[in-house]
Amino acid sequence: MMGIKDKQGALFSYNINLEERVREDNPLRVISRQGDFNWVRDEVVGLYGCNGNESVDPVVIIKLLILLFWDNIKSERELMRIVPERLDYLWFLGYGLDEQTPNHSVLSKARKRWGKELFEHFFVRTVWKCVKLGLVDGRKIHLDSSLIDADAARASMITTSKEVVAALRKAYEVEESKFEMEEERRRVIPMHRRNFSKTDPDATLVARDPRSAYATAKPRYKSHRAVDDRCGVITAVQTTPGHIRDGFCLPEMVKQHQDNSGALTETVIGDQHYGTRENFIHLQSLGIATHMKPLRSKGMAEKHEVFHVSEFIYNAQSDTFRCPGGKNLSRRGYNKNEQGWYYRADTRDCAGCPLRTQCTKTAPPTHTRLIVRPDGHEALLKGWAQACGEEARQDRRTLPLAAMAFINLRKLPDVITNQDDLTPLRPAGKASG
Ligand code: SF4
Repeated sequence: MMGIKDKQGALFSYNINLEERVREDNPLRVISRQGDFNWVRDEVVGLYGCNGNESVDPVVIIKLLILLFWDNIKSERELMRIVPERLDYLWFLGYGLDEQTPNHSVLSKARKRWGKELFEHFFVRTVWKCVKLGLVDGRKIHLDSSLIDADAARASMITTSKEVVAALRKAYEVEESKFEMEEERRRVIPMHRRNFSKTDPDATLVARDPRSAYATAKPRYKSHRAVDDRCGVITAVQTTPGHIRDGFCLPEMVKQHQDNSGALTETVIGDQHYGTRENFIHLQSLGIATHMKPLRSKGMAEKHEVFHVSEFIYNAQSDTFRCPGGKNLSRRGYNKNEQGWYYRADTRDCAGCPLRTQCTKTAPPTHTRLIVRPDGHEALLKGWAQACGEEARQDRRTLPLAAMAFINLRKLPDVITNQDDLTPLRPAGKASG
């Protein structure tokens, strides 16, 4: 049976008035003043029976979860140890000084009872409230990610051959298939790595800095997020195993942002991890401005210090590239690995070219320069041009701040003007991805 928490009269039995003890500018006061959490009861009431023991009030559960993440407390056990010591926590939860606070297990039980879908609904509802309050604009988003340590020791990792890891994962998947697991999650579970954690098989061994020593690697997950530019509200989230590249999640994050905020994205900002060729082409095909830093892999041009591909000018009419030496490179064939057409200069042109040593390092007699024109080349050029503009550079400079994804709570009272505006729970119409 669902319980409902009353404020305790015992709050005042020691002449200690928590209302007075909690300082005026405590952020929990602002949250408490602006946030009405009673709606949680309506959302979960169907998940509780009518008889039996009274549960902990769902409003208390949701407030405990807020405290867990607000103060970045390392575990639910730790939180429940801290709660009786913190006057502001007790005040926020509505507990008295001598009142028994709930056991840590109530949080895991509630999570299990409420389920993932309901939490996702809470998230969408919160984003939509921010939209209604004008805290989310929806047109410009920043993408970022961070690694999260898994609850598994480094010692739980087995390092073995790819074949053994694949077999272990298969066995694990058989067990997992007894639970419902959505396709999206299956897709990102690593299948061909050499490491496998016995206690948390979804986590993967990664270091925070890929250039650092292997010894610093730990089993980790990665939290991906889209942050709205206006006030830094997180509008889309995805959690994957730690090794999943940031750029891989971009299409899903943009789609989720549009669905959750009900607004069409106009600009995407990100660091070079998002600036892959596929992402530039994908966003350009949707008409979204690409303000990500282009990913600069150490390609042949940089490695051998020869002319960069951008120094070869493409002519759409003749379907040729003009090289810095003024010669034409014509289309020769399709390269499946590079996913594009390759163009080559005539051997005779290159043989007598004074710029040859700056253009190609291949030995005679095949010393001609080869250029690959990837599929979606026009969109890529347009995307790169946007990414190199001053506006994009300016946007990227604000990325670290936006990635912190916070709302300045002290500004909230100025922003929130009408509580009645909070009624709708979901966007009226979803934007197409
Ligand atoms: S080496 Fe060949 S491709 Fe390079 S600049 Fe000279 S003519 Fe052009």
